[in-house]
Amino acid sequence: MADNAASIRVVVVGAGPGGYAAAFHAADLGMQVTLVDPEEAPGGVCLYRGCIPSKALLHVARLLNETRDAAECGLRFTRPLIDVDQLRTWKQGVVSKLTGGLAQLSRKRNITQLHGRAKFIEPTRLVVIPAAGGAEQSVEFDFAIVSTGSRPATLPAAPAIGGRIMDSTSALELEDVPKSLLVVGGGYIGLELSTVYAALGSKVTIVEMTNGLLPGADRDLVDVLHKRLRNDVSEILLNTRVAEMTESPDKQGVRVKLMGIDMVEPVRTCSRVLVSVGRKPNSEGLGLENTRAKTDARGFIQVDGQRRTAEPTIFAIGDVVGEPMLAHKASHEARVAVEVIAGKSSVFEPQAIPAVVFTDPEVAWCGLTETSALAGTRPFKVLRFPWGASGRAATLARSDGLTKLVVDPRTERVLGVGIVGPGAGELIAEGALAIEMGARASDLKLTIHPHPTLTETVMEAAETFFGPSTHYFPRV
Ligand code: NAD
Repeated sequence: MADNAASIRVVVVGAGPGGYAAAFHAADLGMQVTLVDPEEAPGGVCLYRGCIPSKALLHVARLLNETRDAAECGLRFTRPLIDVDQLRTWKQGVVSKLTGGLAQLSRKRNITQLHGRAKFIEPTRLVVIPAAGGAEQSVEFDFAIVSTGSRPATLPAAPAIGGRIMDSTSALELEDVPKSLLVVGGGYIGLELSTVYAALGSKVTIVEMTNGLLPGADRDLVDVLHKRLRNDVSEILLNTRVAEMTESPDKQGVRVKLMGIDMVEPVRTCSRVLVSVGRKPNSEGLGLENTRAKTDARGFIQVDGQRRTAEPTIFAIGDVVGEPMLAHKASHEARVAVEVIAGKSSVFEPQAIPAVVFTDPEVAWCGLTETSALAGTRPFKVLRFPWGASGRAATLARSDGLTKLVVDPRTERVLGVGIVGPGAGELIAEGALAIEMGARASDLKLTIHPHPTLTETVMEAAETFFGPSTHYFPRV
């Protein structure tokens, strides 16, 4: 801890997983902390309208899908009655419990919480415009950490979000279960919410402009998801864009004109549309022009390895500084920025930021993907362990998964890990640890993994570096 910590005044702008983590850590180091956010309690998009409500709904989707799939094991359930009001209340309860808990943790740390929007006036002063109206409050600081996150991007060909045209925020509110839903964008949000609405009973059409779902992720992982999604949703249209979208005059549906290769039915009418075509940084309206902090052409605040902007007193972290827009990246950056403020020589240099798409099956990866390895010059070897050879996967009736490692063939170092299958989001943590620790294939191979679990797929993938693994004899 810095000797003068108690005299350091830190203001954190934005109370999402980046901002509240920064505020808590700074307070724990003894600094005087003010946390500014329009919401009553900390949480940000992640807790109020992102990760947490979507995972609550995905849990319900999983229950519904499992009861359906249980027929294969001889269990036949009647189709459950879905009480949407109760579902919404339960999901809201999860959110309130967590945000309430964060508010309590914040109070215990003596953090001053201001509810409103911050605007920088000069490099060491900002004003807070109260969410409830009233007079602005001036806050002087030694250091500020901007963690204002991102918001959904919109489609130029579409009317504004509202009514039957939803973004992720309105889709998570779950006003109803529409008869049909057209999802624009086959990325993280589009696929997670397609999974939710399809399980609840909507007829879902996914429209993706590139030639595959989850652009950027390895195709062999995505293929497994695509195959299963094809059974759950009504259509997946690749290489397709929205040319026009209009809400019907009676407000009962949306007419969408599509443009794509081999498009046989270019006009669709659906009950609702979800636009999930990426997110934009919240860097406007912050008064950054009154400081030396700069944004790039896409609006991301530019920072150095210590997360410091061009204005030495102002740091920035999370979605507002760039991809990947993931909560856990933001909270890690929070720690770096606070440590730098405390006088440490910390730097943001992760070797592996895990990405997880919480679909069914889940897709997760970290470190070097095979796709990026192919585009680079570094030698690499890919080790695959198909879940068809996993006893645990067979007992779960989910043998279609895959675990893969990207390894340096000269040093055996694990450079990347990719997994598709139920629980991939939990399994990937071992991969992230292996990469950060500089583990070699033999380290994973020689680590005793519990049997019968899906974690063995990581060990057995590593075994294939040296030849066949116990349960898998790769074709030569
Ligand atoms: P995304 O970048 O993951 O996906 C957007 C998709 O929309 C891409 O596949 C893109 O090709 C497609 N697209 C863009 N314009 C289009 C158009 N006009 N017509 C059809 N398709 C179009 O973005 P997202 O799904 O909106 O999510 C935003 C961010 O939020 C992600 O980058 C992710 O970091 C974060 N997020 C993470 C999680 C998670 O960690 N599980 C969940 C949700 C969101």
